Amino acid sequence: MRRVVLKLSGEALASAASDETIDASTVDFLASEIASAMERGSLELAVVVGGGNIWRGATGAMAGMNRANSDLMGMLGTVINALALQDAIETHGRPTRVLSAIGMDQVAEPYIRRRAVRHLEKGRVVIFAAGMGNPYFTTDTPAAQRAAEIEADIVLKGTHGGVDGVYSEDPRVNPAATKFDELSFDEVISRDLRVMDMTAITFCKDNHLPIRVFDLMASGNLGRALDGQAVGTLVR
Ligand code: UDP
Repeated sequence: MRRVVLKLSGEALASAASDETIDASTVDFLASEIASAMERGSLELAVVVGGGNIWRGATGAMAGMNRANSDLMGMLGTVINALALQDAIETHGRPTRVLSAIGMDQVAEPYIRRRAVRHLEKGRVVIFAAGMGNPYFTTDTPAAQRAAEIEADIVLKGTHGGVDGVYSEDPRVNPAATKFDELSFDEVISRDLRVMDMTAITFCKDNHLPIRVFDLMASGNLGRALDGQAVGTLVR
């Protein structure tokens, strides 16, 4: 049995092809990837979903808003995304539970570690919403922290912008940038590579949690990453 945390950016739910904040066909694609990955039967999958398609705390703070308030808006955005994802995954026949780090009884279950683990053991896809419930973080850090808390084997960081792993530079800016198949945490830190937020990277390093960065939007890639195939970049 493998227990995995998948970090999904909010922007992965949007699409360049539509003006919608949440694009139904994109969410359906992600849900079908998750549902078919679950068919392997030996997988326990928790998803941490971001909210960047709706709001990022830093954006409001730059415009003069109180940072903690602005971050709360971002966390609420992740709840909206979690509900969209839940609906789509259940349409594909997979039971799910949304667990929120901010109490909202009518919307989602509260995050309780033991409950999350029980849902996973029962084959439900668990969606962690509202990050960690604390401002001054992005959802990369709760992805790492929840993974440690539920004793997951790995954090899968799905990318969506056409970049299929970790590169020496942004390959969209410099096409000569080279892709890494594998990196150590120390290399990521010393070269300041954009894998996840540095807080999440140092957390994963300290807690011996490997991260695989891979293109989530390529059909079948989630399954390949779960099978341990060499897609994207492995950081350990
Ligand atoms: N956020 C927060 N605490 C958390 C997780 C998220 O304050 O534990 C807020 C923060 O403002 C962040 C926003 O929620 O910018 C949306 O999350 P994120 O930026 O990680 O979304 P993503 O880039 O993954 O779509």
